Amino acid sequence: MFEQLSLDGMALPTQHLSAPAPAPAPAPAPAPAPAPAPVTVPMPVSGVPSGVPVQPVVAAKASPWHHPQATRLAVLQGREVSFVFRRGQRRTIGFGINTLGLTVSAPRWVTLAAVDDALQTKAAWVVRKLAQVGVHHEVLQAARLNWADGLQLAWLGSTVTVRLGAPAVRRGMPLVEHADGVLWAALPPTSTPTQLRDAVQAWMMRAAHAHFVQRLDHFAPLLGVRWASLRLSGATTRWGSAKADGSIRLHWRLMQFSPDVVDYVVAHELSHLRHMDHSERFWQTVASVVSDYAALRAHLKGERLPPW
Ligand SMILES: [Zn+2]
Repeated sequence: MFEQLSLDGMALPTQHLSAPAPAPAPAPAPAPAPAPAPVTVPMPVSGVPSGVPVQPVVAAKASPWHHPQATRLAVLQGREVSFVFRRGQRRTIGFGINTLGLTVSAPRWVTLAAVDDALQTKAAWVVRKLAQVGVHHEVLQAARLNWADGLQLAWLGSTVTVRLGAPAVRRGMPLVEHADGVLWAALPPTSTPTQLRDAVQAWMMRAAHAHFVQRLDHFAPLLGVRWASLRLSGATTRWGSAKADGSIRLHWRLMQFSPDVVDYVVAHELSHLRHMDHSERFWQTVASVVSDYAALRAHLKGERLPPW
């Protein structure tokens, strides 16, 4: 069994809402009333027959209102929204929103006009969700780490300041040293932000491994379990996972939270070695070693780490 803790702070969950598709296109419609102003404008995209010259997609603006792979444009509640439109083997028209923007999927037999109608019906929901995603996007942009001398990083409930140029650079010394709240990086002043980031990350991962092993060894006997191996995760969307064979994975960026939060995740994963589910008994096991787990869990869900 494989159990996951989601990495809510770092990836926005995809929001999905399905709308019932209209019935298959009816027989030729009677003369329609004057149509309302068109709300969806096909965007010229290569491969799609169009009388309009092919142009680059108009979605250079990096914001969820303009999906980078957009193929169509709509005006929803007065706002321009460019979105991905897909045809597929499905029964309903689906609307998906993630950090990139809006994707609309429709069955092959639904007319574009019906898709537009469905989109207008859902306009309030789409605009509300895109606004939420947009705020998230701006917060992340504002919080983007500036990899240079003086950068402050959250570290086990405190902060460390990254400084270039170790106090005593000599052969055999580690590239990054931690002393009195300062991470001294023994890198030349010409180093790129990427070199500094990678050096700090390597140090953090070593420190994370040592800390996690210490906490696993602390909690395992209390829970009456044995853990077999620890691996650090990074690129996934989980804070941690546990397998029945005793292998544990923990995200190295947990070290940017308080020690209490790290302990909660460690205890959570070790408790899965007793209960491979999130049953009442599982949570009682967690609570036996971390009594305030609910608050720590809420903290982890509410926290937003800036992109590394
Ligand atoms: Zn779990």
